[in-house]
Amino acid sequence: MDFVLGPENLSVPFSFSIPTHNRLGNEIKRIGVWSSGGLDSTALLCLIMSELKSTGRLETIPVTAFTIIKGEGSTYYSDRVVQKVSEHFGVPIAHTNNLANNEPAYSAGRIGIVPIKHIYEDNKSDMDMYMGINRMAPDDIRPFKQTLKFFYPDEQVLYKAPFLLLHKPQIFDLYYKLECEDMIQWTHSCTVLAVGKCDECYSCQEKVWAFNALDKEYIDTVAPDMEDISFGGTWVHPSYEAPLVTVLPTNKI
Ligand SMILES: [Zn+2]
Repeated sequence: MDFVLGPENLSVPFSFSIPTHNRLGNEIKRIGVWSSGGLDSTALLCLIMSELKSTGRLETIPVTAFTIIKGEGSTYYSDRVVQKVSEHFGVPIAHTNNLANNEPAYSAGRIGIVPIKHIYEDNKSDMDMYMGINRMAPDDIRPFKQTLKFFYPDEQVLYKAPFLLLHKPQIFDLYYKLECEDMIQWTHSCTVLAVGKCDECYSCQEKVWAFNALDKEYIDTVAPDMEDISFGGTWVHPSYEAPLVTVLPTNKI
């Protein structure tokens, strides 16, 4: 699929396709996508579903979402939004939720490499893996002072990162281009508050930027339909097995 994304002053051509074979030369029979329940991973899930649909593969290439436990509600919000995207496209999306996180800094919104590596190794024979990461927008583009403290390298081995070089308003524009903007309300962005938003963190500021840049009315997150989305402080969603990957003492693999 080919797009021109973003507002006029930040527009960029963007192409996305899912090949027939993965980088190991194996035929792709399944798609995997990392889901945090946030705006980027959900836009990517919508993009993958749309691409499969437009190439006649929606019924034949099953999609699985993978979610790592983060102390900001990823297990709850990803469960909710994956179901909504599944309903939107009219096909089931499998969900492997509650993957244990080896990154101690949960609260900073980080995820560890160990579960990502495990899932890659378990599925690489016939699965194409995707993650919706992107880099911090440079100072001359980003209209707010908050910064991201980590930097993703150009080459990703364990997954493809089609959004790596896109800015938030450009990623965000995909919802509208794909007519998936109804999905925005089910995503959660704040990395400080699991319910509601702090308005101060990088993710909260970035979301406001995306709406403003595209001249769209702000869409707030629908409040959770349960009292305690930390599930007793464990963040382990009771609808799924848990945790599926043992927490290892180091992130060196
Ligand atoms: Zn926030």
